[in-house]
Amino acid sequence: FTIEERLNANAWDVDVHRPHIRIKDPEKCRKCEKKPCTYMCPAKCYVQQGDYVVLSTEACVECGTCRVVCPHGSIEWNYPRSGMGIWYRFT
Ligand code: SF4
Repeated sequence: FTIEERLNANAWDVDVHRPHIRIKDPEKCRKCEKKPCTYMCPAKCYVQQGDYVVLSTEACVECGTCRVVCPHGSIEWNYPRSGMGIWYRFT
């Protein structure tokens, strides 16, 4: 199995009105030289657009990597509300 095939086996109950991750200061991301979130996130939730970083949390696998690798502490990270987020299915 590829990583993509394994990820596609999972299901998500997305909390569309209360994203569990938030970029605290987009200006810090704009000035961030390496933007590690854009290549460290296994679910590709962070995408560079121009100098900015755009976050969409729908496919998040709740690994916590983005919070750890952000060199500016610019990620506010919480688990989704109870019952929401990823439902892992092991193949
Ligand atoms: Fe990506 Fe993991 Fe951060 Fe979710 S917690 S956005 S999967 S790096």
